[in-house]
Amino acid sequence: MADHDVLVVGAGLAGMRAAIAAHRAGANVAMMSKVHPVRSHSNAAQGGINAAMRGAEDSIDSHVYDTVKGSDYLGDQDAIEFMCAEAPQEIINLEHMGVIFNRDEEGRLGTRAFGGASYARTFFVADITGQAILHVMYEQILKAGVRSYEEWFVTDLIVEDGECRGVVAIEMLTGKLHQVTAKAVVLASGGVGRAFEPSTNALICTGDGIALAYRAGATLLDMEMVQYHPTTLAGNGILLSEAARGEGAYLLNSKGERFMDGYAPNMRELASRDVVSRAEATEIEEGRGVDGCVFLDVRHLGAEAIRTKLKYIYEAALDYAGIDMITEPVPIRPGQHYIMGGVKTDPQTRTWDPDGAWKGPRGLFAAGEVACVSVHGGNRLGANSLLETVVFGKVAGEMASAHAKEQPDTPVSGAHLADAEARIQALFGRPDNGERTAKLRLDMGNAMNEHLAVFRNEEGMRSALGTVHGLQERYEELPVVHKGGVYNTDLIFHLELGYMLECAETICEGGLLRKESRGAHYRRDMTERDDTAWLKHTTANVGEDGRPVMGSLPVTVTKWEPQKRVY
Ligand SMILES: Cc1cc2nc3c(=O)[nH]c(=O)nc-3n(C[C@H](O)[C@H](O)[C@H](O)COP(=O)(O)OP(=O)(O)OC[C@H]3O[C@@H](n4cnc5c(N)ncnc54)[C@H](O)[C@@H]3O)c2cc1C
Repeated sequence: MADHDVLVVGAGLAGMRAAIAAHRAGANVAMMSKVHPVRSHSNAAQGGINAAMRGAEDSIDSHVYDTVKGSDYLGDQDAIEFMCAEAPQEIINLEHMGVIFNRDEEGRLGTRAFGGASYARTFFVADITGQAILHVMYEQILKAGVRSYEEWFVTDLIVEDGECRGVVAIEMLTGKLHQVTAKAVVLASGGVGRAFEPSTNALICTGDGIALAYRAGATLLDMEMVQYHPTTLAGNGILLSEAARGEGAYLLNSKGERFMDGYAPNMRELASRDVVSRAEATEIEEGRGVDGCVFLDVRHLGAEAIRTKLKYIYEAALDYAGIDMITEPVPIRPGQHYIMGGVKTDPQTRTWDPDGAWKGPRGLFAAGEVACVSVHGGNRLGANSLLETVVFGKVAGEMASAHAKEQPDTPVSGAHLADAEARIQALFGRPDNGERTAKLRLDMGNAMNEHLAVFRNEEGMRSALGTVHGLQERYEELPVVHKGGVYNTDLIFHLELGYMLECAETICEGGLLRKESRGAHYRRDMTERDDTAWLKHTTANVGEDGRPVMGSLPVTVTKWEPQKRVY
């Protein structure tokens, strides 16, 4: 008998929302995470979550349009319409669970302005929105008695007869491998920011689920679309949330000019992230930066607002850069932040297409940053990601429960566990050739950050792909020096590097395939958007030789025809 009806891999916002929904749908659901659940990267989300719910002042259509435009018309409009329509109810659901959102003077749920939005529709909890929601959801998980496999690391998805039936995972406390079976699996394992160095992402954002699904036959979509956030702290890449610009912060160059006037005269600092990041990179390149940075200036907001509404950012600048934002501007620059691409799903979060337009294992669902529905297309709007995690997390939990109900209880072969055990023993048996995981990881991160950042071209992307291929060869010989069972992080980092290299390869291949500039993918050698040839998604499937086989899928357009994108 299967251990569970539904197994959710990941305990960030998408995973917890899926587990709560599956539990409410009556499924025997379990959640698995390689870190303690509230250490998931969702915990770091600061700025907020979008929804159009200010009555006549705002509208769902306006939220949809902003998201479509933000995506540079690459987002699938049916999925975007669904997400924006579900948003108001989801905010209320979160409030009912116990999330204490900030309120305005009239006692209504408070909003702040965010980039690319034509109306202030971002709901927030100071600048700790992700933490506030994640902790409340974890309480709900505990209250419901959902089984939570904490600090378990997934090494394989079990697929038999084209159907996903569970996972193989390492119990990190002991090092023991287990097979955990389920009639449906929800992947909610987050993004792959750490394939880039530096990144705003936690060190655990290593694309495990993206690579696991890809290896198991799923289709990856638009992997070339990588977001660089405009305001990351000089030196270490820590995020200073868009909340700062939402509250009215200026971006200044070395001459003290608000340079966004020249790039986005209407929205200025609140243009979409790809536009602002390119503007900053241009200022820096043309000599109007200081030490590779421009400045974020909040002084005019006053000490009170800075200390209350931007408390975390204020402390981060003080602790990590020694700068008091009340009296000084902070040096910032664009830094890797988010991946728009991921495992292809339909709006019902299925990774397979019943009609066969794309491939993926049945019974495998995906939601959150690991997935590409696609609601963000070429560029995600700030505060739309938290929204995606809860809206599609809920759908995934419900859909997986319904799928599980229809499945017979098929016994699963023990071969998957034996294979994984043999693979890990073989890793332990590798001779120490002096190579180290950290070194390979850094080389990958630097190459990706050099060639797949804000500006790209053919030569650079080819060079990064060459670096990734070289690292993959070295990875085949890379030893695991520490052989112990208890919390063997040497082994975990090794496996994570393998996942990241596979993701990095598809990011480079996607970039090389897409012969235009769109959203975050800006090619200096092909600067125009080409709707005739490229109003489509890129796809990657693993080939027989282990290399990606690239292809494409059409974009779903409902009523918003592509227009020139100006802010
Ligand atoms: C600093 C920062 C600030 C942000 N601020 C905002 C914001 O204000 N608004 C917004 O909309 N978006 C924001 N984002 C983006 C948003 O937070 C993320 O996209 C979103 O939280 C991802 O949620 P998730 O549930 O998909 O994944 P995550 O929260 O990343 O969770 C992934 C889960 O998968 C588990 N996992 C991964 N691999 C394995 C494995 N091999 N085995 C077992 N478990 C595994 C992890 O343990 C974890 O529990 C921010 C991102 C960052 C980095």
